[in-house]
Amino acid sequence: MSKEVDSKKATKIGIFGGSFNPVHVGHLNSLRAVAKREKLKKIFVVPNAQNPLKTSDNIVDGKHRLAMLELALKDDPQFVVDDQEIKRGGKSYAIETLRYYISKYSSENIYLILGADSFENFDQWKNFEEILQEVNIIVTSRPKAVLPYDKEDFPKGVQPHIKDIDFKGVVKLKGGRTIRFAQLDDIDVSSTQIRKNLKLKKNVDQFLTFEVEKYIKENDVFPPLEVKIPDFREFVHFCAQNLADKKALGIKAFDLTQIVAPSEYAVVASGTSTKQAQSFAEQLARKVKEEYGVDALTMEGLEEGRWVVIDYGSLIVHVFYDFVRNEYRIEDLWKTGKEIQLKLK
Ligand code: ATP
Repeated sequence: MSKEVDSKKATKIGIFGGSFNPVHVGHLNSLRAVAKREKLKKIFVVPNAQNPLKTSDNIVDGKHRLAMLELALKDDPQFVVDDQEIKRGGKSYAIETLRYYISKYSSENIYLILGADSFENFDQWKNFEEILQEVNIIVTSRPKAVLPYDKEDFPKGVQPHIKDIDFKGVVKLKGGRTIRFAQLDDIDVSSTQIRKNLKLKKNVDQFLTFEVEKYIKENDVFPPLEVKIPDFREFVHFCAQNLADKKALGIKAFDLTQIVAPSEYAVVASGTSTKQAQSFAEQLARKVKEEYGVDALTMEGLEEGRWVVIDYGSLIVHVFYDFVRNEYRIEDLWKTGKEIQLKLK
């Protein structure tokens, strides 16, 4: 083996994956802190094409996410953007990317870095046992997600692989690798929050680097909703009509502009089962995308289908399983607003 290959094999490297939609100061803080603490020579930052565990389709083209990462990391040669997952396309599995690095570096010197929120469902990752066998893991803190303390706090599938946990909290795995925890000076930010702010034209200065923000503006990466939805009263009718076409029950709309509420308008409807509520919500989101070219800022509750909340900024649509709607009586909250008389066909 040549000296060059030898020294490369001995280099301690990190792999940091994610959607980076867009990359923000929370990511940068994590990268810098981990590189310093664990003395990593290089960290490869790997944006995914598609996260197999996230259903959101709000993800922007890989070329933009790569460009934003390049801008955010350009002054620091220690951090290298790797486009292999974007190039491969389809669902991005960490194991495939890791196998590439294992072929280049010694696997005992490879550290997979992930936030505590991602680690919570690590045992759902494809071939997670092989990952535990091959490489080390660094779990960083993340606001609202707690770092595991006892063995019982670890994801169920990880627990049988734990050999012991030392007094510094370093977890030794039966296969010889480690899991370490890095408590960061947490920065409470997520890409979801940033996308929402951008679409509502709210300030994002403190969350993005200057150049990333400039790139987003110049390339219209996350265009404000109002450009695409110029008239929200019309949009309310569009959503209500779509739900009526699908035979949703109890469709009501409210004008909340005169009261204190999280949105200016609300639409509420229900289905006779959780499955039906899920399907109404999904079909509505698809129709809105087709007609207006916009994704919801967030869509919550879709997995369960009991109460799906689709947030379009000035309009929030609530699709309930009817039984749950009766339990919450959400319309009572809007009594002081104005009910909009819908003319549904
Ligand atoms: P989204 O809101 O779109 O789900 P995100 O902000 O969680 O995105 P990702 O690109 O999915 O960002 O995250 C990549 C990695 O960075 C994950 O391991 C995640 O836990 C971590 N991470 C994201 N935000 C922070 C933060 N504020 N502090 C520390 N780690 C973070």
